Amino acid sequence: MKYGLIGASGRMGGEIQKAFASHELCFAMDINGETATGVPEVLVDFSSPGALGATLAAVRRFSCALVLGTTALSPDQLGDVKALGGSVPVVQSFNFAAGVTLLKMILREFGPLFPDWDVEIAEIHHNKKKDAPSGTAILLRDALGRNCPTHSFRMGGIPGDHSVIFANEGEVLTLTHRALSRNVFALGALRAAEFARTAGPGFYTFEEVLSCGRKKS
Ligand code: NAD
Repeated sequence: MKYGLIGASGRMGGEIQKAFASHELCFAMDINGETATGVPEVLVDFSSPGALGATLAAVRRFSCALVLGTTALSPDQLGDVKALGGSVPVVQSFNFAAGVTLLKMILREFGPLFPDWDVEIAEIHHNKKKDAPSGTAILLRDALGRNCPTHSFRMGGIPGDHSVIFANEGEVLTLTHRALSRNVFALGALRAAEFARTAGPGFYTFEEVLSCGRKKS
């Protein structure tokens, strides 16, 4: 697979290049500019919301698929990304770990069974992370369908911990996902890129990638 990478010099950019080692990186962009040696079949973007305009322009220029992992996108930016799915395959997720997708599905299914319990979300990330709350915390809150309090901690080198804590007068139920390294997100992005390379135009979630493109009912 020929792929392009936006955010190539970043922490995730490095992990993506390791996970995609058997594929050909033929287009790279970061804050310092771009280099191109070919036409990518898929563009992978783990960068910054400020790069999105250039990313969408590159997707149109190459007429290629897009895998988008960048967080803190505005509602307007997400609207532009969804619209792009009308012409090319787009996979967008604030978290490319399979376990977070499973947690999202559990919350969507079982969250409504706890209407009278308190629920709050806690997320812990490395101290270089720019956005808060994390995109994953927002994704989990959306799955829960409740606008619950969210707490963000920025400490050390933690790749990403998320806990959803339910409590009533007598019980506490905590659901926690912990990414042990950034590699897990890069492997998820690889799976999404392999999916997107052969998919038809559309806007896909990572949940749909893991269930082979089936839209959730
Ligand atoms: P980082 O700061 O280490 O790297 C950011 C990269 O983006 C750098 O290469 C930088 O040069 C580039 N960049 C910044 N602004 C740019 C611009 N205007 N134009 C072009 N390039 C630009 O950050 P990181 O830790 O690698 O994270 C990158 C993004 O990925 C963040 O939004 C983060 O939240 C997100 N992320 C998503 C997932 C997921 O699974 N979806 C997992 C981890 C991180």
